[in-house]
Amino acid sequence: MKICPICKTKFDDSAEFCPQCKAQLEEVKTAAPQKKEKIPKSFWFTILGVFGFILLVILVYNIIYAGVA
Ligand SMILES: [Zn+2]
Repeated sequence: MKICPICKTKFDDSAEFCPQCKAQLEEVKTAAPQKKEKIPKSFWFTILGVFGFILLVILVYNIIYAGVA
């Protein structure tokens, strides 16, 4: 699909110029809409790893602390 940059009218791919504005049409990518910033899977693994590490530290700390007390 193509679109006129001036009047924003949509045309077929076969069209080259807007018949009203005589402007060259711009290619419109319909397949890929605005890319939303997706959170990568690795991010969740990192969060999970950090939380797991904190939990482990707390657990180990509690064990050591309980042993002392
Ligand atoms: Zn136009």
